[in-house]
Amino acid sequence: MPQEAHVYSYSAVLMGSPILLKLFQHNEHLAHQVFRLIKHYENLLTVNRSPSEVMNINHAAGLHPVVVNPAVYQLIKCAKAASLLPNSAFNLAIGPLVKCWKIGFQGSSVPPAGEISARLALTSPHQVILDDEQHSVFLAQAGMELDLGAIAKGYIADRVRDFLHSQQVFQGLINLGGNVQTLGGASQVSGTPWSVGLKKPFAGPDDLIGVIEVEGKSVVTSGTYERWFEFAGKRYHHILDPRTGYPLDNELHSVTIVSQDSIDGDIWTTLMYGMGVDQGCACLANKPGIEAIFVTKDCRVVLSSQQLFTFTLQDSSYQLV
Ligand code: FAD
Ligand code: MG
Ligand code: MG
Repeated sequence: MPQEAHVYSYSAVLMGSPILLKLFQHNEHLAHQVFRLIKHYENLLTVNRSPSEVMNINHAAGLHPVVVNPAVYQLIKCAKAASLLPNSAFNLAIGPLVKCWKIGFQGSSVPPAGEISARLALTSPHQVILDDEQHSVFLAQAGMELDLGAIAKGYIADRVRDFLHSQQVFQGLINLGGNVQTLGGASQVSGTPWSVGLKKPFAGPDDLIGVIEVEGKSVVTSGTYERWFEFAGKRYHHILDPRTGYPLDNELHSVTIVSQDSIDGDIWTTLMYGMGVDQGCACLANKPGIEAIFVTKDCRVVLSSQQLFTFTLQDSSYQLV
């Protein structure tokens, strides 16, 4: 019987999220470097306080382009491309709506309909003007705001993986709160996958629908049960429909994407939210390397395909489709 490898866990709170790093060697210095790297990107990308590169862009909306660091530029370019896909539910310019709903932050409330339509008019991704030579970003209308909340954690998870590889660490796990990036397997013995729990919506933190097993892959989950508030008996969650300005309302409680890169997981969870199960599965049939696990409100777990992971259902109140 192979010896179980010992796992060392390191935690922090960054980006308003619990961060967990697992390594197979006790190495506080390395863990510290990883948390510093995450902090570095948080400081560039946050929209929750100034200064950051993204806040500098937002403050200059309608006024002038802002030159940003090449990594930030490439991330914004990728986020704009995802926003311009046909019928995309992803929108990097969703900031004015996120700021007026404040879901997950103090003071969240249902904004007046007039305010939502006024803010919707400030969210066109076409109005995010990029200049590849200057690495500059210009928000063409005053009042526009970028929000990279649905993509930045994925980007950062991938940078952590690359950093660990550069340090000759090829086994481990980083969880940025919804974005899990695994390196290799869960033991030195090959063929031992990592187990990532699929959370049961609106249940206790340890209540799982089942377990996803992967090696060297990213597992990103986006759920309506993560950040929400209730008003007049109705729940409002933080994934907004860029077409209406209101939280996306369909048959889904959560979408999980398994992929190589976490940035794809982040983008595709949002795209899948917008499409729903049937259209989402049809779309992913032509996308090898991106696989989805949909959890519906009527307690179905739908797998788009299963080349990159295995899934074991644990909760018998759910039906695996
Ligand atoms: P996802 O489903 O991946 O993304 C949802 C988030 O994306 C929303 O919260 C909103 O920000 C945005 N969004 C909503 N609708 C759309 C849409 N249609 N298209 C594109 N984007 C959309 N949280 C705190 O509480 N305090 C902090 O100080 C804080 N700082 C952060 C700093 C950084 C750099 C980042 C990346 C996140 C930070 N967060 C913070 C968390 C952030 O506010 C979001 O809640 C978080 O990014 C949501 O990630 P998720 O994976 O849970 O949800
Ligand atoms: Mg996310
Ligand atoms: Mg999420």
